[in-house]
Amino acid sequence: MPYPTITVDLGKITRNTEIVVEKCREAGISVVGVTKACCGDPDVANAIRLGGVEWLGDSRIQNIAHLRTAGFDIPMCLLRLPMLSEVREVVRLAEMSLVSELETAKALSEAALDINVCHKVILMVDLGDLREGIMPQNVLRIAKKFAALKGIELYGLGVNFACYGGVVPTRTKLEQLVDLTERARKETGLPMPIVSGGNSASLPLVPDGIPPGVNQLRIGEGILLGRDTIARNLLPGAHPDAFSLNCEIIELQKKPSKPDGEIATDAFGNVPVVVDKGIRKRAILAIGRHDIIVEGLTPVDKGAEILGASSDHLLLDVTNVKRALGVGSIMKFDMQYSSLISGMMSSYITKVMGHGL
Ligand SMILES: *Cc1c(COP(=O)(O)O)cnc(C)c1O
Repeated sequence: MPYPTITVDLGKITRNTEIVVEKCREAGISVVGVTKACCGDPDVANAIRLGGVEWLGDSRIQNIAHLRTAGFDIPMCLLRLPMLSEVREVVRLAEMSLVSELETAKALSEAALDINVCHKVILMVDLGDLREGIMPQNVLRIAKKFAALKGIELYGLGVNFACYGGVVPTRTKLEQLVDLTERARKETGLPMPIVSGGNSASLPLVPDGIPPGVNQLRIGEGILLGRDTIARNLLPGAHPDAFSLNCEIIELQKKPSKPDGEIATDAFGNVPVVVDKGIRKRAILAIGRHDIIVEGLTPVDKGAEILGASSDHLLLDVTNVKRALGVGSIMKFDMQYSSLISGMMSSYITKVMGHGL
């Protein structure tokens, strides 16, 4: 097998999806399965689909296009606010998008009328995280304008948390969203059936902390890594290790732990601070910062410790690892979200998908 490799256990992804879908169903919430961390990979998307989601969502229209080409006919939602330059693709390829600009809604409306479809739009509201969304006091006014546009249907309100501002979703904030939706329904006379209450950060609120009326969550990390993104608790029964990274040792030698010489900066402009632990067994693995965000990696071998990385090399102290290691040995790593997305995007890392990996 070529290394480095990310192995993807599709069965574990399906199982994790089932757990998320079931937990949400009990609270009256349907799940948009988010595929962006895997670049819209059809095998991963299919594993998520098999877990029972009603929608797929992705932030990139290219990924949605890729899934359409692969034959997916499940409804799909564009998660990032559409660019004006892409509205034609958006209405052609996705049934729904998240929108916060009237100008974008107008462009979607025209593009949808041109090809004779009705495109669903979720109006995003900012409840404090300060990424996308209109301010709450503008909701009724803007909702009315959206409602007047032909070719699009104002399908509900949505919110995002824990992305820019790190703001934690709460019952109070979601009650505010439900209340705004009810008022917007009255104002526009539209059913606005969806109240989209956020991403994996909202999972700890399910079921008891979710106010009645919230009926959709958009879940990526919770499915792929089996955790909420606030307390990082593993969902009961979920697999944290559907993805793992496998790298090959290219040097294994005993060396002092303290660099020898006058210290300037490392390859990335930082001054290294190193504790002198004497002579240690050090492994160099053939992977580096050009391949993956190394800060989200955890070695599976007990006792192994990541010392650092440069563009092409990952350095580990393996003195305390019990099993026999040598040049050519493979070491395995669990991945957090940052490593997962960067690794899945890297053309230098082979991806192997299957069951029971
Ligand atoms: C990425 C994204 C999600 C999913 O986020 P996770 O933390 O992976 O669940 C949901 N909504 C929007 C708008 C997103 O961009």
